[in-house]
Amino acid sequence: MKLNLFAGLLILASIFSATAQDKKPLSDPPMTLERAERLVPRLALKPAKSLIPEGKVALDTIDTVDPAVQILLFSDNTWAYRRDPSQAAGNNVFTENWTDEYPDPYRTTLEGLPDRVTIWVVDSLSDYHCPNQVAVFSPYGGRHGRRHTGVDLPLKTGNPVYAAFAGKVRMAKYYRGYGNLVVLRHQNGLETFYAHLSKINVKVGDWVEAGKVIGLGGATGRATGAHLHFETRYQGYAFDPQWLIDFNTGKLRHRVFTLKKRYLTPGSKYVPESEDEEIAINEADAKDMELARQEAEKKAAREAALASAEYYKIRSGDTLGKVAQRYHTTVNRICSLNPGLTPKTTLKIGRRIRVR
Ligand SMILES: [Zn+2]
Repeated sequence: MKLNLFAGLLILASIFSATAQDKKPLSDPPMTLERAERLVPRLALKPAKSLIPEGKVALDTIDTVDPAVQILLFSDNTWAYRRDPSQAAGNNVFTENWTDEYPDPYRTTLEGLPDRVTIWVVDSLSDYHCPNQVAVFSPYGGRHGRRHTGVDLPLKTGNPVYAAFAGKVRMAKYYRGYGNLVVLRHQNGLETFYAHLSKINVKVGDWVEAGKVIGLGGATGRATGAHLHFETRYQGYAFDPQWLIDFNTGKLRHRVFTLKKRYLTPGSKYVPESEDEEIAINEADAKDMELARQEAEKKAAREAALASAEYYKIRSGDTLGKVAQRYHTTVNRICSLNPGLTPKTTLKIGRRIRVR
C-alpha cells in the first residue's frame, strides 16, 4: 500500500501556494455577505462522509508510517484509515499559539499571511457535522457599523451544539460578550467558535470528534435570545462560515477550501472587549435600524402620494378657483402641491398642474 505517499498527503494539511512577499496593503471594501456570495462560488457539494462504514465491527488495527494514522480491519474483510486522536493531538498545531486565556492567541498581521491558503477541510479520515442546522438569523460581516465576526443560528436553550470537525478544545469558559464559549482547534489550523452556550460539556485539552455535543445552546454573554454564535477563524482572523457550511441544508460546501487573504479584513480580528462595548454596538445598531425603518416609512408615504397624484391641463377660461371647485379641493391646497404656484399666478393654457 502507498502508505508513504498517503502519509505525505496527510502532512500537507495546509499548502501555502502564495507569494508571501506580496506586502501590498489590502484596499478591498469591507466584507459583506453580498460580496462573499460573489467572491466564493457556491458549489452544491454532497455532505462529506466518513469512509468508515457503518454497522461493521473493527477487528484489528495496523500501524502506518504516520504515527497518527492506523488501518482498521473490519469483520467483512474491508479496511479503512483511522486517525489516532491521541497522536494527532500531539501535532504542533496544538501546541503553538496555544492558550485558553483569550480568543486570539496569534500575533499575525494580514500582511504576513499568504495570499491564499489551501485548507483540507475534511479528508478520508476526518468527518463533519453541522453545528446547528437552521437558517442563518444574522449573517457575518458589518451591518450598521457592527462588527459581526460569525453567524447567528437560532436554537432553543438546551438544544445540542455539535463540533463541526474533529479537534482539540482550546477554550471552554465564560468569555465576555461571547458568554460560555468553546473554541476548537482543528488539525488543518482552522478554529471554530461556539458562543452563548448555556452549558459547556468539554474541557480544555479534550479531543473531540465531529458531531460530539460540545455544549448546549443558550443566551449567555451578549445575546438577545437564545442562539448559537458560530465563528470560523484562521490565524485569528474570522471569515464567513457560510463559505464552508450551508446552514440551510447543514451540508459542507467544500472538502478542500481555498482561503484567500482578501476574505479577511483587519476588522475580522475583532474580539468583543467587554459586554459594555458589545451593548453599545448593539444599541447603535438598533438606533440605525430604527432610523432606516422611519426613512423607509417616509419614502413609502411619498411614493403612495405620488401614485395617487392627479393632474389637470389648464384650458381657456380656467381659474385656480374653478379647478379647485371641480376637484373638491382648495386653491391653497393646489398651490402647496405645485412648487412655485401661487393664487396670483397667471395660468397658461396647456400647463399641467397637480390637483391631488
Ligand atoms: Zn453573533
